[in-house]
Amino acid sequence: MLLHSNPHIALLMLTPLLALGAAARADCPRTAAQTEGPYFKKNSPLKDDFRPDAPTEDWTHLIVRGRVVGTDCLPLADAKLDFWHADELGEYDNETYRMRGHLFSNACGEYYLDTVVPGLYPGRTRHIHVKLTSSSGLVLTTQLYFPDEERNKNDGLYRQDLEMAIEKSDENWDGVFEFVMNLKGNAADCRSSGDMNCDGALDFTDIDGFVMALLGETEYREQYRGCAWLNGDMDRDGDVDFDDIDPFVACLIDGGCE
Ligand code: FE
Repeated sequence: MLLHSNPHIALLMLTPLLALGAAARADCPRTAAQTEGPYFKKNSPLKDDFRPDAPTEDWTHLIVRGRVVGTDCLPLADAKLDFWHADELGEYDNETYRMRGHLFSNACGEYYLDTVVPGLYPGRTRHIHVKLTSSSGLVLTTQLYFPDEERNKNDGLYRQDLEMAIEKSDENWDGVFEFVMNLKGNAADCRSSGDMNCDGALDFTDIDGFVMALLGETEYREQYRGCAWLNGDMDRDGDVDFDDIDPFVACLIDGGCE
């Protein structure tokens, strides 16, 4: 979305939003731990795209993304997320590292995995395994589930609070999950720079991205792949919302934030 090529008019368009407020977030309850099951394999490669691992061409693109935060809802940077799941045929690769890999949350606690929708295998509903290790060494092993799956009601491990929020489109399934580890957030380096297009500076070219970030993380991510959505979290409450407009505009007028 191109907001407006004239920065002054673009700013004026932001002004009505200034009057609106948003509630602060409550404490974040920790994510439930689950068994790692029989198929965990140590030493997975650093990998954030499992699609090349798919054994067939008949798969659906799945995005798994979100944040790692502490129970104070503040981001946890540099957490390791080790994912493994069945391929589109419902099979685990226990010989090599297909559909296995780890990545790290960024300076704002965000993570992003491209993979394929895992197939079903006997005895379980659809799920993804993940083992998180915080930079301080705390481990959280759990599983993520999919809403509206027929088998959810018959799977003894399934928990609704471990469901991703999934949006299905013609292109992909977009899954969002926020992991809460039993720690305080550590993301001191998440500077909420307001640099929404990741060009290293806060200026009028960031207004479009900021407005998109206000509309939602998904919309922002699609346009600004690799940029941290929380760059727009100017008041550092863990969310990009209307409370961030005033500080964003102030930094913009000052030509940057310290
Ligand atoms: Fe499994």
